[in-house]
Amino acid sequence: MSSGTGSGAEAAEGSTGAGGSEGAGALSGPGAADAGAFADAEAGVRGPVVPVRTYDVALLDLDGVVYTGQQAVPHAPDALAAAREAGMTLAFVTNNASRTPDTVAAHLTRIGVPAEASDVVTSAQAAARLVAERFPAGAPVLAVGGEGLVAALRERGLMPVVSAADRPVAVVQGFAPSVGWELLAEASYAVGAGVPWFASNADLTIPTERGIAPGNGALVGVVRAATGAEPIVAGKPELPLHRESMLRTGARRPLVVGDRLDTDIEGAVAGGVDSLLVLTGVTDIPGALGAGPGLRPTYIAADLRALLHELRRPEQSPDGAWTCGAWTARIDDGELALDHHDGADDGLDALRAACAAMWAAADTSTAVDFEHAVKTVKETLAAAA
Ligand SMILES: [Mg+2]
Repeated sequence: MSSGTGSGAEAAEGSTGAGGSEGAGALSGPGAADAGAFADAEAGVRGPVVPVRTYDVALLDLDGVVYTGQQAVPHAPDALAAAREAGMTLAFVTNNASRTPDTVAAHLTRIGVPAEASDVVTSAQAAARLVAERFPAGAPVLAVGGEGLVAALRERGLMPVVSAADRPVAVVQGFAPSVGWELLAEASYAVGAGVPWFASNADLTIPTERGIAPGNGALVGVVRAATGAEPIVAGKPELPLHRESMLRTGARRPLVVGDRLDTDIEGAVAGGVDSLLVLTGVTDIPGALGAGPGLRPTYIAADLRALLHELRRPEQSPDGAWTCGAWTARIDDGELALDHHDGADDGLDALRAACAAMWAAADTSTAVDFEHAVKTVKETLAAAA
């Protein structure tokens, strides 16, 4: 099977996630045991922390965190080199199933982040493990995807096939630009006949240089429409990919680092591990302020330099206000108010305090003027910059 990785596939990450319903389906299915992978993970660190001293492994999302297309995200190469120097293990965790770890590692190395294939964890690898845990070595598996998926299945001793007539024990669907009607039809024949169905990820869209294109979730939707079946999903925010990352890195106290709330951060929350949201990708200030339960990061920072510095978390005072560094946020008469006082400020403490206040208000059904809150935070950050 050819790689077929064009410019679109290179960007095949960080797209619109599917809704939570698939997650519920996956967790109630055979993937439910994955939650146990986190039983030993330590989370819930309190007070100021320096991530490189507190966490042993950074589980890093790629697009919007380490690179954007062919460009390194500003400060990422230097910050990651320093984090490694300080003893932190780096794992690059991607929902992109089309590229092999070798290809991803070469991309990272090219932009100034030296990486080996063994530093990369893909959703194709997580999906292949799900299959390998259920079926013996040598079992035929219908591979609906590209070289990343084929390599991941072979790594687990499985035999990739391309026809339902090859009597596959499972169908695994991962993204590749070359996947067309014929292969989707083969998948539908097998899934329709009751063969277990796995998907590397359920991202509905892929950002490309020319616009938004269908992602793996959209192609999964084709097979779903033909069969009425639901796949078990391996990628973020589902747990198998994080479990794969934990198994491959031996992480005891991992920190998930991502730019998307509905994949990176949601996956970390579901797995019970701490997370760092960086603002170098898709999540903006309104997105952070409006993050719902299950989508809220442990920490918020501008970029990956945060791995090396003390990160503060807001603390609530008895009067209900939230203080972070030099800023205190409170909700007064349905409006967010930010007060400055003496103290250190790395430029984002106002946002951190505001998020804590907004999230607490949402949880207690306290009405807040959201547009006003966004304006207040933006003006405060601009004035402090
Ligand atoms: Mg991303």
